[in-house]
Amino acid sequence: MTKITPQPGIMQIKPYQGGAAHVEGVANVIKLSSNENPLGASDAAKSAFEKAAFSLHRYPSSDHLALRMALAKAHGLDASRIICGAGSDEIIAFLCQAFAGPGDEVIHTEHGFAMYRISALANGATPVEVPERERVTDVDAILAACNKRTKLVFIANPNNPTGTMICEADLARLAKNLPGQALLVIDGAYAEYVEGYDGGAALVEAHDNVVMTRTFSKLYGLGGLRVGWGYGPANVIDILNRIRGPFNLSHAALITAEAALHDTDWVDKCRAENARLRTWLAEALAGHGVISDTSLANFILARFADRAEAEACFEHLNAEGLIVRPVAGYNLPNCLRITIGDEPACRRVAHAVGAFMEGRA
Ligand SMILES: *Cc1c(COP(=O)(O)O)cnc(C)c1O
Repeated sequence: MTKITPQPGIMQIKPYQGGAAHVEGVANVIKLSSNENPLGASDAAKSAFEKAAFSLHRYPSSDHLALRMALAKAHGLDASRIICGAGSDEIIAFLCQAFAGPGDEVIHTEHGFAMYRISALANGATPVEVPERERVTDVDAILAACNKRTKLVFIANPNNPTGTMICEADLARLAKNLPGQALLVIDGAYAEYVEGYDGGAALVEAHDNVVMTRTFSKLYGLGGLRVGWGYGPANVIDILNRIRGPFNLSHAALITAEAALHDTDWVDKCRAENARLRTWLAEALAGHGVISDTSLANFILARFADRAEAEACFEHLNAEGLIVRPVAGYNLPNCLRITIGDEPACRRVAHAVGAFMEGRA
């Protein structure tokens, strides 16, 4: 009889479920379940990726200097305090591994991103879920949940799957009032969609207990490549770098991300197109009686009367080849998260939701 058992916490993990990409028996589906950029990556990024084919036999850079310098220049940051990861998921994992273990608490919000809980449990720490106020992060509730065991507080801003965000003053108040042993992590996966927003960079500069995470997976259209990064105080980044594998990013990933970063025309176009279609889709759905909070990201959280209606609409959309994301696992059983697709996709969604709602009237 073997006595092979995992570390405490691991069996409590419900494995992360990615967005579905297929519907049985339906061809030509449109995937709107993973907040991917419907326009894809920029041509400059694709060319860089092709070029990487010629150096596949070489180990990649282990210090990611070129990408960190490019990020520092683009965002006005200190390159020595940037760390790159295989997606920002890896930065989240490093943070939990470095700072949270058995007996420690990791705070996430009621409708917060699933990886915070998974990474906390993977390290034996205790995830603590804090209520939101009408699908918006509640700073007072978070502060009330803090104690001497709190090590990390994760907030996505804008949040996934709600699409809402809180202001910099609220985040500053949170940073200032956290217990001394706790780090505030501002997850800026959707920061690029918010015109003029720095993703939390100024808060990192102003406080010694704030870390920002960012990604190339959403606006830059590189979800398949796995490139994210973090920015924080020098001592925190030094700690994370000690547990980072030396070759955690491939050469292809590094040079493609750098090319994507420099193609600002493409980024601007994608951001503008997302904003235009997001407004259009939200209004079209509202016209059919399906409301949503104002989203600042690349998706809409469509709200239905109840769980049964949300599930029925999901099935209807599926049958039409439109794959959206059920979010019952995020404590939002009456909602569906719909990624903003290209214009034809948005029109199909609006039409299908309209037909579904008409059928119920
Ligand atoms: C998509 C997403 C991420 C990151 O993903 P990576 O692909 O690992 O960079 C992080 N946080 C939130 C809230 C997200 O929605």
